Amino acid sequence: MINLVRRLLKTSQKKPEKLIDEKEIRYDGRKLNEMRPVKIEVGILGNADGSAYIEQGKNRILAAVYGPREIHPKHQALPDRAALRCRYHMAPFSVQERKSPAPSRREVEISKVMREALEPSVFTEYYPRTAIDLFVEVLQADGGTRCAGITVASLALADAGIPMRDLVSACAAGKVEGRVVLDLSDVEDKSSDGADMPVAYMSSLNAVTLLQMDGMLTPDEFEQTLNMAVEGCKQISQLQKEALKAKYATAKEAVAEKEEEAEEEAKE
Ligand code: ADP
Repeated sequence: MINLVRRLLKTSQKKPEKLIDEKEIRYDGRKLNEMRPVKIEVGILGNADGSAYIEQGKNRILAAVYGPREIHPKHQALPDRAALRCRYHMAPFSVQERKSPAPSRREVEISKVMREALEPSVFTEYYPRTAIDLFVEVLQADGGTRCAGITVASLALADAGIPMRDLVSACAAGKVEGRVVLDLSDVEDKSSDGADMPVAYMSSLNAVTLLQMDGMLTPDEFEQTLNMAVEGCKQISQLQKEALKAKYATAKEAVAEKEEEAEEEAKE
């Protein structure tokens, strides 16, 4: 019985026949240049130096940062800067078929790509011979997790108080059924004939820190896709700033309350 329910659930989650209709509306109701709904929270873990959480569509991702701190093993120490070490990991329950908890080749690749996308934003030269450790845990995946992972990791670094040149915002664009679209979900990403281009971008510095591409695009489509992805990154950057401000507004309130309490105690 349980197996039957599971099978029925899976059939209902199968790829729809058409991903984009005649009115250019995508299967999930989005326009071609529309991002999935994004919700971000900063500073949600008590034990890490910095942390953040993102929901982008069905993606749920948590990032935690420790450091700058003493580096172990010592031979990994860099004489002129901090070593930024990233681990991207997908929880076994993050996808429909249970994923092995052991790190896959894909996770090793994404960990490297993430480090390379984030490193240009961090003043690592301020902390030679130390480590900044970054953990990105995908709790639920639905396409575009490397981009959402970079977005949330950059916020966790900022929350840890690590000096940065800019926030890194990431978003993918690509081609689905012949049309250029923003922020592909898993079914869109896996559509045949498609293409996917994850981009990470520092908005204030106008600098791209990651550009990858799967699939085939004409030179015109390439330009259109890149421009759309950068526009997506700019939208994400706004949301990141709002999330950081929201965290500091609560922190400010808490400090003001404590100060008031202290003043009242002093009066008594
Ligand atoms: P991204 O998450 O950045 O789009 P990929 O293009 O490699 O990275 O993966 C696309 C999607 O494929 C993931 O977001 C996830 O939804 C799905 N996926 C990845 N690994 C697995 C896996 N082991 N089992 C099932 N689905 C997976």
